[in-house]
Amino acid sequence: MNSQGKPITLSAKGIRKTFGEKEILRGIDLEVHEGEQIAIIGPSGSGKSTFIRCLNLLETPDGGSLEVLGQQVFHAGTKTPDRSVRELRKQVGMVFQSFNLFATYTALENVNLAQRRSLGRSLAEATVRSHELLERVGLQDHMHKHPAQLSGGQQQRVAIARALALDPKIMLFDEPTSAIDPEMRIEVLHVMRDLAQSGMTMLMVTHEIQFAEEAADRVMFIADGEVLEIGPPAQVLSAPQHPRTQRFVQAVG
Ligand code: ADP
Ligand code: MG
Repeated sequence: MNSQGKPITLSAKGIRKTFGEKEILRGIDLEVHEGEQIAIIGPSGSGKSTFIRCLNLLETPDGGSLEVLGQQVFHAGTKTPDRSVRELRKQVGMVFQSFNLFATYTALENVNLAQRRSLGRSLAEATVRSHELLERVGLQDHMHKHPAQLSGGQQQRVAIARALALDPKIMLFDEPTSAIDPEMRIEVLHVMRDLAQSGMTMLMVTHEIQFAEEAADRVMFIADGEVLEIGPPAQVLSAPQHPRTQRFVQAVG
């Protein structure tokens, strides 16, 4: 989707993060337009997860500022009120490598739970929305199963439905297919592609270069906590300028 001229949905400026002595993020800037999809790639340990976690304040940055949907949600030196953090997490859904479903609840109950807790929806309201979303991710026949009865790909699709149930404006994905058998990945990628086509604003950390090429408007390459390259897939993946990007793309492609 061409996002030129669309409003800026998320703006991160100079995001820094240090763990102990180690500077993990060295000042990352990113502006994401409404309806844009950004793939984040880079070597293991380069700070991709830390960066994406900073965007919904699962990690508190040590420097920089963050605006989401026109609201400042973080500015270094100022504590973000808990209420603003809760608001932010409703607007920004997140899907992790591990699915983190409640083992003792069915798929349907897992998707209901967040809606009941965070949005205060009634059981009836939540159930209607959960049915809709579980159908959308292709799990209409598995709603009453527990996580252990589902494949990794199915569990991840429940996790995606659960995140979507809060009606987020932005979705963050951190290597959503890494813990899934290769043949089950396709169905998760299919759901993500669908979501992208529906115009959801998405940031996705991924190892799936081919998927990034097809589904992302822009690809961002991070190494050692810095953005070395960002641009359309045809540029960053097919004609990378930076030698580090060239080596990375060659190795994984
Ligand atoms: P990536 O997702 O690109 O593989 P991460 O953001 O997970 O990279 O990690 C970047 C670096 O930060 C790694 O060296 C990792 O060990 C370190 N790190 C991540 N989280 C923490 C933490 N909570 N405490 C200490 N070090 C961390
Ligand atoms: Mg990671």
